[in-house]
Amino acid sequence: MSVHLFLYAVAAAALWLGSLYVHPFGRCLRCRGRRVVIRGTKRKPRPVRCPVCKGHGRRQRLGSRTVHQLVCRVRRELARQRQARLAERTLTRADRNL
Ligand SMILES: [Zn+2]
Repeated sequence: MSVHLFLYAVAAAALWLGSLYVHPFGRCLRCRGRRVVIRGTKRKPRPVRCPVCKGHGRRQRLGSRTVHQLVCRVRRELARQRQARLAERTLTRADRNL
């Protein structure tokens, strides 16, 4: 029972991280993506540019930057390893020719 619960939790976390990678931006919480907030009085409403998102209507979701940096670091490390393997292979080939 508890194993199933743990697996569900891991699956949910993986889905959440994937959604953070695919959709790093969410709607602005202040203007709910409408880009303007209503100021002024009830009788004379005055729409102004949202001060939180500065009129973009989006905000970076919490943790998306970390996920993207992690993916970039892993990719860079894999590329470095591939490059090292390639260099090693060409070196041994050069040794054989000598
Ligand atoms: Zn906003």
